[in-house]
Parts: sequence; structure tokens; C-alpha cells
Amino acid sequence: VCPFGAITEINDVAKVKAAIADPDKIVIFQTAPAVRVGLGEAFGMDPGTLVEGKMVSALRTLGGNYVFDTDFGADLTIMEEATELLHRLQSEEIPIPQFTSCCPAWVEFAETFYPELIPHLSSTKSPISIMSPVIKTWFAQKNNIDPKKIINVCVTPCTAKKAEIRRPEMNASSVFWDMPELRDTDICITTRELAEWIQEEEIDFTNLEESPFNKAFGDSSGGGKIFGNSGGVMEAAIRTAYYFFTGRKASKDFIPFEPVRGLQGVKKATVVFGHFVIHVAAISGLGNARAFIDDLIKHDSFEEYSFIEVMACPGGCIGGGGQPKVKLPQVKKVQEARASALYKTDAETDMKASWENPEIQELYTRFLDEPLSEMAEMALHTYFTDKSDQLGKMKKVTPETNPMST
Ligand code: SF4
Repeated sequence: VCPFGAITEINDVAKVKAAIADPDKIVIFQTAPAVRVGLGEAFGMDPGTLVEGKMVSALRTLGGNYVFDTDFGADLTIMEEATELLHRLQSEEIPIPQFTSCCPAWVEFAETFYPELIPHLSSTKSPISIMSPVIKTWFAQKNNIDPKKIINVCVTPCTAKKAEIRRPEMNASSVFWDMPELRDTDICITTRELAEWIQEEEIDFTNLEESPFNKAFGDSSGGGKIFGNSGGVMEAAIRTAYYFFTGRKASKDFIPFEPVRGLQGVKKATVVFGHFVIHVAAISGLGNARAFIDDLIKHDSFEEYSFIEVMACPGGCIGGGGQPKVKLPQVKKVQEARASALYKTDAETDMKASWENPEIQELYTRFLDEPLSEMAEMALHTYFTDKSDQLGKMKKVTPETNPMST
């Protein structure tokens, strides 16, 4: 059993049904990047079949008032995370490498086994946890909706997200509205739970008409679309960081950025941004992460790297514990198919980088101001806790002590 919840089986569909049945609630679904390339398998489709439009239709048929795309949240995560990276590289006080923190199983692992890495973890929230407070603050305000009526439901390939949404610090909307009872995300269900629910309601998924996401959070860049693959966060971040560093769009050398693609557990690359030459790594699987970090510790070579992506599941979220089950001999083939499907959506998208997304630009213009602004820090950033000694004194990195919270 995975101690960090990445493969724990809990069913939360009954909670979503209760919210839909309550006429006083507005149920908002958001769907993570990898769900759309796994869900179809539960209905007999080939692995990697892209079912985005049918998935959105199914969620509306089930009673969702709005269906938003977590790929938009991925673009928002990249805006903040790439800005953090820039700050770290230009500062002597904020340590490098920067580690990604969008995988909750990896975050729990680091908090428990490597608490000394906490100052290295990006304080930017994961795509799901960054989008939920924006829905309950800006979207609610813009549309004159009482935030208490909103039930945010995320649909994910990830069972560990069920724990992430319960982290006490994931409550920026309650701070914004001064409503202590508000949580940013209310319920998390997995791809498999959604598939079973669709089957139970006897919805003819295969023949559903396709339907688009709701606007405001319905557009995403190619960078946001590939978040579900190991190396996808890194590639997306490089596309936007390149622009932040140089003022120019990332060149074809970075799109696709092959060195961080593929199912290998450890991928390394060197990136040149103007006069910055940075070394990056993308790791999937916690065993690989442990070996990689132990090696850095042993050789005192942390500063050789500037940016390291870690995803707990081999291959990244496409292989998450909440995806349709796959027989062991088929795992590699299925993961390759799911990964290729996400890369294909990127290849077919003209807008490659998160900073180019007009919905992201509007959100900053009208609400957030700029990455790492006061509002962005409040709504989009988090902090981590030393969990190495659960019985002893807890050592906390708070917004006051986190070097990124400037
Ligand atoms: Fe969840 Fe993705 Fe991390 Fe797996 S890799 S635990 S699916 S966030």
C-alpha cells in the first residue's frame, strides 16, 4: 500500500450526488489533464483515446453546473512557478534547485523523509489547488455567486489529491471572503469513480455528443495540456521561463523538448536561456526520486541543478492510481498511448506556452495583477510542514519563514 495515498481507494461520488441534489448548491467540476486520455478505456475504447468532449458532456448530464479545465490551472501554476524559478536564479538567498510541488504524494514524501528540501519546494499550488480558490474568489465575484453555494469538485487520475484538498492551508477562499467554513476544493473523485458513476447512470458515453468546457477557465496552452506526462511540467515551465528570461517566445529547440519526454524514471537536460545555462531533471517514481536525491546529498551536488520535477507515479499522472486499471503486461503500452495522446493535443495547439493564454492574461489583468503579487501569494501559493517527526515538535515553513514569500 502506498503510504502517501497515491493508490488508496476511497469513493466520494455519493458526496457529489448529494451536492447536485441540493438546489442551493452550484456544482463546478474541473478535470485534470490525464483524465481525458484514460476515461475512454472504461468504455472499451483504445488506450489513449481522447474523450475530452464526451467527458465534459457526461459531467453536465450528471448535473454539473459548470465544467472547467484543470489544464487552465496548469497554465496558472506555470506562470507562478516559472516566475519563482527566475527569482531563485537571480537571488543568492533563495536556494536552488527548485523542486516541483504539484504532486501531493511527492510533497508528503519530501515533508516526511527530506524535510531539509522544504525550502526548495516550489510554493506554487498544484493546478487543481490553484484553480479552486480562483473559482471561489474571482469567478464568484465576477458572476455574483455566493461562494458558500459553490461546491468545487475535481476529477483526477490521482487518489493522493483526496488528501491534498484536505490540507489545512488549502483555504485561500476562506481568507479572501473571511468565511472560515470555506474550503477551496470540496470533493475529489478519480477517473475510475467517474467512469463507474457514468455506467451506473446508464449514460451512453460512447455516443455522447461532444461539448466544450465553460469559458473563463476553458482554454489552455499546449504546455498546460502535457502536465499529465512525466516531464510535462518541466517542458511547460521551460516554454514560459524562456519568455520570462529573454522576452522572446521559446524557439523550436524547446518544442517539443525531447530530453524530458518518455517513460524513463530519470531524465536530464541542459537548457540555455540567454546567458543562463541551467541543468534540469524530471523524475518519476518515488524510488527513483529517493535514489536521485540521495546521490545529490552524497556528492553535495544540489546546486548542479536548477529545476527538478518529481512525480510519484511512474510515467506521471497518466499512470495515476485513480486511472482505469491496467493488467501488468499492458502497463507500458497503455502509458505510452496515454502519453502520446497528450503530446498530440499539444502538437495540434498553436498556443504553446502558458503566458500566451488569453484567459490567463485576463485573470492577471483583472484580478491577480502579476505573478507573485500580493493577491497571487495569498491565493496561489502554499507552505509545507516538516513531518519527519510526527510525535515530536513540528517545524513549520510558514509564509513568514518561506524564503519565496517576499
Ligand atoms: Fe497523483 Fe500524478 Fe502524483 Fe501520481 S504523479 S500521485 S497521479 S499527482
